[in-house]
Amino acid sequence: MQFLNSKTSEIFLNNQKYFIKRDDLLHSDFSGNKARKFYYFLQNELKGVKKIISYGSNQSNAMYSLSVLCKLKKLKFDYYVSHLPSFLKENPNGNYKEAIKNGMNLIIGEVPNSFKEDELFISEGGAVKEAKYGIEILANEIKSWAKEQNIENSKLKIFLPSGTGTTALYLKHYLPFEVLTCSCVGDDEYLKKQFMALEKENHPKILKKEKKYHFGKLYKEFYTKHLELKEQTKIEFDLLYDSLGWIIFENFVKNLENKDDYIFLYIHQGGVLGNISMIERYRFKFPNS
Ligand SMILES: *Cc1c(COP(=O)(O)O)cnc(C)c1O
Repeated sequence: MQFLNSKTSEIFLNNQKYFIKRDDLLHSDFSGNKARKFYYFLQNELKGVKKIISYGSNQSNAMYSLSVLCKLKKLKFDYYVSHLPSFLKENPNGNYKEAIKNGMNLIIGEVPNSFKEDELFISEGGAVKEAKYGIEILANEIKSWAKEQNIENSKLKIFLPSGTGTTALYLKHYLPFEVLTCSCVGDDEYLKKQFMALEKENHPKILKKEKKYHFGKLYKEFYTKHLELKEQTKIEFDLLYDSLGWIIFENFVKNLENKDDYIFLYIHQGGVLGNISMIERYRFKFPNS
C-alpha cells in the first residue's frame, strides 16, 4: 500500500483563514495519524512476526488501525482491554465493530509482561520509536507544500492536538516551523513527560487550557464546536481530540499579536470512525443541540 500525498485545503472558521492538512483522507482503510505512526510496520518486512499485541480502550483509533495493519500483513492481532460494556458487545459500532470484522481477538484482562519471539508488542496509542518513520514523510509533505506556497519558516504555525504526544513531537523534530499542541488525554505535565521519554529537547509548545477536561467525557462545548466546524468547513472532525484542539487553537490565534502576518496550518489526524458512538452519546445527552 502506498499513500498519496494528502492534500492541504483552505478553510475559514469564524472569519479566520486556516489551512488543513487532510490526513483523514490518506486512504479509505488506513488513515489519520495512526496510519502515519504504523506506516513503518506496513512497509517493512516483519521477519519472524506472527502476531501483534497491543492494549488500550475498546473504541480506540489505534486499535482499529492495528486491525487493518494485521489484516493486510496477514498477522494475528490480540488486543487487551480492561472492560467491555455488554451494550457494546451486543451492539458493536465504530472502531470496535470494524476491528472485530478485521479479525481482532479482543481479550479482557491484564496485558502479559513477557512475549514470545514471534509476537510484536506495540504500546498504547502507538507511542513507539518506529512512528518516526511515517511522521518524517508527513513532515516532508508539509515542507514541500510550504515551499510551493512560498511561506517563510518563521511565518508558519502548525497545530495538532495530542494524546501520547508522539505525532507532535516527531513532527517538531523534522520541521523548521513552530509546532503547537495541547494535551487531550492527560494534563500538561503528563504530556511533557511523554515528550521527555522520546526526546530530551526541541519539544512542541503546549498551549494552556482555561478549564480542566477529562478524556472521553461529554462536554457541550465540544459538541457545539464539532457541529460548527461541520457547518462552516464541510469537514468532519473527531470529537475526542479535535473539538478541544480547535477551541484552544482558535483562542490562541485570536489573541496573537500581528496575527495577519502568520499562516496557520491544522493537521486533521483522522479518527472520524470513532465519532459514531460519540455522536450517539451526545445526541442522547444534549438532544436540543
Ligand atoms: C491518536 C489520535 C491523536 C493523538 O495522537 P498522539 O500521537 O498520541 O498524540 C489525535 N487525534 C486523533 C484523531 C487520534 O486518533
